[in-house]
Amino acid sequence: MWAFRRASYKVRMARTKIEDVPQLMKSPWEKCVSERAVGNVAAGLERVKRWFSLRKVRSVRPITAARESQKTQQAADARTWRLLQVESALACNLSCIMCPWKSYRALAGRRGVMQQEVWEAIKPALGHARMVDFTGAGEPLLQPMLVQWMHDAKKAGCVVGLLTNGLLLTQDRAQALIDAGVDWICFSVDSPHKDEYERIRVGSNFAVVCKNISFFTSAKALGTKVMMNYVMMEMNFHSIHDFVRLASELGADQINFRQCEHVRGEHGRGLGLFGKEMTAAIRKREAALDEACRLAKELGVETQTAPFTPFEQCVCGQDPRDSLFVRYDGAISPCNSLAYGGPSVFLGEDVQFPEVLCGRLPDEDFFSAWSSDSGRLYRDTFTERCREYEKICVEAFVGDERLTPEVLSQMMRRRLPEPPPGCKVCHYLYGF
Ligand code: SF4
Repeated sequence: MWAFRRASYKVRMARTKIEDVPQLMKSPWEKCVSERAVGNVAAGLERVKRWFSLRKVRSVRPITAARESQKTQQAADARTWRLLQVESALACNLSCIMCPWKSYRALAGRRGVMQQEVWEAIKPALGHARMVDFTGAGEPLLQPMLVQWMHDAKKAGCVVGLLTNGLLLTQDRAQALIDAGVDWICFSVDSPHKDEYERIRVGSNFAVVCKNISFFTSAKALGTKVMMNYVMMEMNFHSIHDFVRLASELGADQINFRQCEHVRGEHGRGLGLFGKEMTAAIRKREAALDEACRLAKELGVETQTAPFTPFEQCVCGQDPRDSLFVRYDGAISPCNSLAYGGPSVFLGEDVQFPEVLCGRLPDEDFFSAWSSDSGRLYRDTFTERCREYEKICVEAFVGDERLTPEVLSQMMRRRLPEPPPGCKVCHYLYGF
């Protein structure tokens, strides 16, 4: 453990000394991505942090309360899944210009909403999951049972949340979500200007969405995190600062600046602002994003950002080592991207994305899907990659080589096992 701590410290120090540190490591999201890349080293540090915080808790609170808190933490840690992503609906009420899932939606059976029988098959797994995200490739508020399902997940002790376009969030529904105990909600907004917003989010209504967000932020229970997503594209990037001001006015806690990273067929193609390598245009965008983050900080809004150039991670943010995706029709996959295979684009090149399924609810059992060959392949490969990554960090610590991002990237390419099918051409594995 001590070696890990020192290795991680050295990696961080080496990073801070480099003049031209890739943007990847500067902002909060990027910092989080790079910590992901540190894999179990970061997890080790997290345990150390928790150990210290528990000691602190003990000194200021009665011992019984501290023990309870420790037990709760241990129970949460013991759950098999960090995340169950449940696609409550593939259907959507909008037709956004960058949405990659339109052709899948057109072919969806059962109106593109998850059926109760699939949820019944998920329910036994809830006590083994820390978080349930009710979002997939559609609009969760089109799921008529959403509030009841949220109640079920909360009862099983899960953290719950959803990403929504916000148009269908009436005051009654907002109140019902709050009463159900929603822990986080994220609104896809993408522009602070009515015309631009409605050109991107085709079929939406800017005034209604802003009113719904305001209602939610004013009525939300303490502890509900409200976020706003902004997908960075050529047509909206100029309004990034105004977007920060809008988020602050609407009372959002956090802005997630996202890259337009998903493409299926022609949908979403050519809209991303990121590139294979650093260019003058990308540098300018990075500077604008940094400035927007500074403004957000001044206004008390947290930010998460995505990088503009790739840096391969040992495991993606989705991390199928402890998560699963359940499609609206009950098909189980390691992640959202692998649930919908098809023609895609990776860093400007045409590629074919595979569809990877581990099982199907309700006919198959959730737990057997988890231990299926395809489920294990993704889990084991990423576990092995993270293990090798740890070794690289430790070796760099005891050796003479200074672990710059460039050296690290070369070593990772040389020593880490190949990513599992699909992941090598998935932008998520490169930090986007
Ligand atoms: S790298 Fe992409 S395809 Fe692979 S598990 Fe992560 S999100 Fe899914």
